[in-house]
Amino acid sequence: MPLTIPKHLYDQLRAHGEDTYPNECCGIMLGASDGENLTVSQLIRAGNTRTDSAHNRYHIAPQELIAAQREGRKLGLDIVGFYHSHPDHPAQWSTTDFAEAHWFGCAYVITSVDGDKTTGTAQITNSFFLTGTSEDDKAIIHQPIEIV
Ligand SMILES: [Zn+2]
Repeated sequence: MPLTIPKHLYDQLRAHGEDTYPNECCGIMLGASDGENLTVSQLIRAGNTRTDSAHNRYHIAPQELIAAQREGRKLGLDIVGFYHSHPDHPAQWSTTDFAEAHWFGCAYVITSVDGDKTTGTAQITNSFFLTGTSEDDKAIIHQPIEIV
């Protein structure tokens, strides 16, 4: 179940994390899904609304999600996943990330950004696929990224 993403979008997604460093960036990925294989064809930058703890939390406002869905519908695209950055932390799941992931069959992309609290450089980018059908059986699986 790879996540396929064009090189220029992959670069944009990573650059977003550098732009917002030392805070987390977040965004929405539009594209196509056949259930297991996800292909990204557009990114939507979202504003991180977690002003209380923006360095280690992110939150996408519901209005932004609805706007993204509407935009996708116009283009014949679905929401296939979400991305965010981990400033000065590894590109791995936090327990909060897991608790707040509710889009089954979607990809959650995390990029680590290391820096000196002023400027940061994107390091590792990982993708995780959320499987399951409810909060009871949900799980995350490391997902290969195919850059095309
Ligand atoms: Zn996170």
